[in-house]
Amino acid sequence: MKTKKEEIRIKGIPASPGIAIGTALILGSRILQVERRNLQPEEVESEISIFEAALDKTKEQISLLQQQIQNELNDSEARIFDAHLHIIDDHTLITSVEKTVKEKLINADYAFNEKIKYYIDTIKKISDPYIKERAIDIQDVASRVLANIHGRELESLKNLPGQRIIISQELTPSDTVAMDRENVQAFATETGGRTSHAAIMARSMKIPAVLALETINPIRNGDIVIVDGYTGTVTVNPSAESLNYYAQKETRGGKIRQNLISKSKLRPETIDGFRIQLAANIEFMEDVNDAKKYCAAGIGLYRTEYLYINSKSLPDEEIQFKNYLQIASQMKEHHVIIRTLDLGGDKLKNTINLHNEVNPFLGYRAIRLCLGMPKLFKTQLKAILRASIYSNIKIMFPMISCMEEVEQALLIVEEAKEELRAQKKSFDENIEIGIMIETPSAALIANKLAEKVDFFSIGTNDLVQYTLAVDRGSEKMGYLYQPSHPAILSLIKTVSDVARTHGIWVGVCGEMAGDPLYTALLVGMGIHELSMSPVSMGPIRRIIRKIRMYEAEEIAEEALNCSTAEDALEYSKNYLKKIDPDIFSLIVKGA
Ligand code: PEP
Ligand code: MG
Repeated sequence: MKTKKEEIRIKGIPASPGIAIGTALILGSRILQVERRNLQPEEVESEISIFEAALDKTKEQISLLQQQIQNELNDSEARIFDAHLHIIDDHTLITSVEKTVKEKLINADYAFNEKIKYYIDTIKKISDPYIKERAIDIQDVASRVLANIHGRELESLKNLPGQRIIISQELTPSDTVAMDRENVQAFATETGGRTSHAAIMARSMKIPAVLALETINPIRNGDIVIVDGYTGTVTVNPSAESLNYYAQKETRGGKIRQNLISKSKLRPETIDGFRIQLAANIEFMEDVNDAKKYCAAGIGLYRTEYLYINSKSLPDEEIQFKNYLQIASQMKEHHVIIRTLDLGGDKLKNTINLHNEVNPFLGYRAIRLCLGMPKLFKTQLKAILRASIYSNIKIMFPMISCMEEVEQALLIVEEAKEELRAQKKSFDENIEIGIMIETPSAALIANKLAEKVDFFSIGTNDLVQYTLAVDRGSEKMGYLYQPSHPAILSLIKTVSDVARTHGIWVGVCGEMAGDPLYTALLVGMGIHELSMSPVSMGPIRRIIRKIRMYEAEEIAEEALNCSTAEDALEYSKNYLKKIDPDIFSLIVKGA
């Protein structure tokens, strides 16, 4: 007699909302077996030709994929493959493989695979999650090259045997592009994070996804699984109760999502008439379409570093000017806050020559890097200033930790203005300049900083990281990463009070702003603008419309008096449950 398999729940991070119930398809290891062979000297030439032909074929395949995704999705997703093409064109890698083949008389696929393994091992040791995720790109390209050397087809997600939920250790951009959209219901992976391509793709394709799962080991091909992209849970071999629960949850979720889209035009205003600005965070120009679709009151954060990360060389003033202008003109009268370069210590090593640091997150990054490279900084400022003449553009400096940084940055803005005047190029003389409050020191001297700037935007992602001394990318330390920690709430309240006293506005642009659990707390602490990824705007708009300001203020006061993050969160959870039980039950597991 067949015994019933036991239900297992595996936790990960919610990467793309929605529920899928279906049959698991496990993607096997993509790494082909590569064995070492000794060559005769006369075989070297043909070995190198095979290697080079495989590189050319890979290049063609990637360009084709890029074309395909450009047609089906948009430019920003297609640009992901630029990174792949750069890897194929990496002369250091190619020359070193060929040299090894010639000098050691070994097969090219083995030499190539060894180099790739070395690259990946090195990259995986770097703590920056963005860089770490580039290891997936390298593995993806390497698998293609090896398959081409061996004359084999890579495992493909193109022709699935029917509707499936894809389970994999990792998903590469080519996997996601090649996916048979009709038949992929969802995906769940062991790797990936907030900035991973898989997360970007999942949201753009509107497929539920859970990433960074504790493990995928208990899942077998053909198992029934449920992917809950709201809470980041995967249930394997669900019980009848779980199946029933999630089927109902999906029906509810679908109805809510539909309803939210139809209500995007409603004002984000509390029942008692307090208006909150709902703005969008964007990384690429194409994101503006989503910002408009969800009726954003502006762009609260444009992460301009993507403009640099995605290009082979540094974008000049003209390229940046056109980019900013295009975004601003699409947003018409709505404000666009352009954050100046926030490159981490380790990013862009090739384009900007940076030294390795033991603690890149505490090192030479963001405003520190810009002040250390005034020419690079001024180029960006001049491009922003020139674009400001046409629209409501504001400048924002990231990672401020002391007064001197603000003063120096403002001085460079003045120099940039002076140069533009000399060049007879116009700009908005009164452009607003704000700073991100994302270090505890900036929050604690906010009353001094407020005298120098027009607005504050609280970057809670980093503020939590630096205040609680928890790496925001660490899966292991996730339990200590608590946005409702009393220290964080107290810093937010301090900054908000300072802003009010000084008559400047204050927003929140970290992930907290788009999380329904914190809406009442932030509104109750006097935050004027919440800026978030466009897909989060629907639920937050709806919650704001159900809040009464005096209640939100009470909740915030109670939470601020708590000794633990959990107690504080309990207040906001209970309030959300009271005012919007539907959204509450979607995002809180088991509610
Ligand atoms: C933040 O730190 O909260 C923020 C919005 O900036 P980023 O996530 O780009 O560091
Ligand atoms: Mg930040």
